[in-house]
Amino acid sequence: MTSDLSSAINDTPFDLLTGKPYPEPTTAQPEADEIEAMLFDRACIATDGCEGVDPDGTCCHGHPSWLLRLGIL
Ligand SMILES: [Zn+2]
Repeated sequence: MTSDLSSAINDTPFDLLTGKPYPEPTTAQPEADEIEAMLFDRACIATDGCEGVDPDGTCCHGHPSWLLRLGIL
């Protein structure tokens, strides 16, 4: 799974609710172990750095969780 992370980031996934691409991340992509921690904690960091985002959700600014952005979910 983790071996796919670097290639998945190249494809901007679409927000299924709006049909639009997610906004570009404003923070650096977390390390693989941080992403795994998000999976276990079920509390994620959004691509703009907001914390406590649902794994399959977005923050109040419209940025998806990293799990969504990376296509893990
Ligand atoms: Zn935010």
